[in-house]
Amino acid sequence: MNEFDLIREYFSWPSEDSDVVLGVGDDAAVVNVPTDQQLVMSTDTLIEGVHFSAQADPRDIAHKALAVNLSDIAAMGGQAKCFTLALSLPEIDKRWLGEFSSSLNELAGRYQVSLVGGDTTRGALSITINVIGLVESGSALKRSGASPGDGIYVSNTIGSAAYAWWQLNNDQKPSEENLERLHRPTPQLELGRALNGLASACIDISDGLEQDLGHILDCSNVGAIIELEDLPLDEELSDHVKRTSDYSIALCGGDDYELCFSMPKKRREWLLKRTRELNVRTTRIGEITKSLGMEIKGYSNNSSSYQHFK
Ligand SMILES: [Mg+2]
Repeated sequence: MNEFDLIREYFSWPSEDSDVVLGVGDDAAVVNVPTDQQLVMSTDTLIEGVHFSAQADPRDIAHKALAVNLSDIAAMGGQAKCFTLALSLPEIDKRWLGEFSSSLNELAGRYQVSLVGGDTTRGALSITINVIGLVESGSALKRSGASPGDGIYVSNTIGSAAYAWWQLNNDQKPSEENLERLHRPTPQLELGRALNGLASACIDISDGLEQDLGHILDCSNVGAIIELEDLPLDEELSDHVKRTSDYSIALCGGDDYELCFSMPKKRREWLLKRTRELNVRTTRIGEITKSLGMEIKGYSNNSSSYQHFK
């Protein structure tokens, strides 16, 4: 099987998007861009041994490779449009490719994002996806823009994926739901769109709340007070915190791909209305402050993990 056969068999899906003038199969793709919109682009690479193990399910790998890119478009308040895939494979394994391809196709279909091109090479297993989204001109959500007094919010629960990972490495069985959160994260694209015009700054949580919120604070030149008690944790992680008083997974655990955003107080009613419509939970966890740094309130004991956050 040569490269052309491989692309034809596994990565040539008809696009239902009439803006995709030319997709896979030419020297480059051609996509219409509406005149009042801007492109939002993001790239992420997953490498075997770094981001996933050799035994990882190819369906999980495909899902995560696309989902993490879509999550970046969500964080910008954009609408995902299309993507390219660069795949490096040590050998042609038809079962692996079949499962990888069908999982990628499924997630792409769910968010109506078209695969418009890519490249395959022989080498160590790695997947690079470049996602292109659209946003109304001048309205992309950024990390800068948070102002003192704005509320700080996160979507759904945080630390769930990291707790599943921690459990796997500590001979414990994660809940099915948290395993799903770890292996097949949900990009918050609908929420990101809804936040466009509401949020003052936004980021997706890939490296952990503390670090990613830190990027918003740095870029906006502000600080924050976070209330530990208010962090939305799932039941398993909440039990773990009660047992250990250790918030490190909740604060520093990555891989959630939830959104963290700031928003002026006066828009709270709008947020509640929109999130009810979308059936997404958002929780206020603190407030943006003028004084720089991140103050984490509610840490009652002097566990070593506290120092980590100062
Ligand atoms: Mg990101």
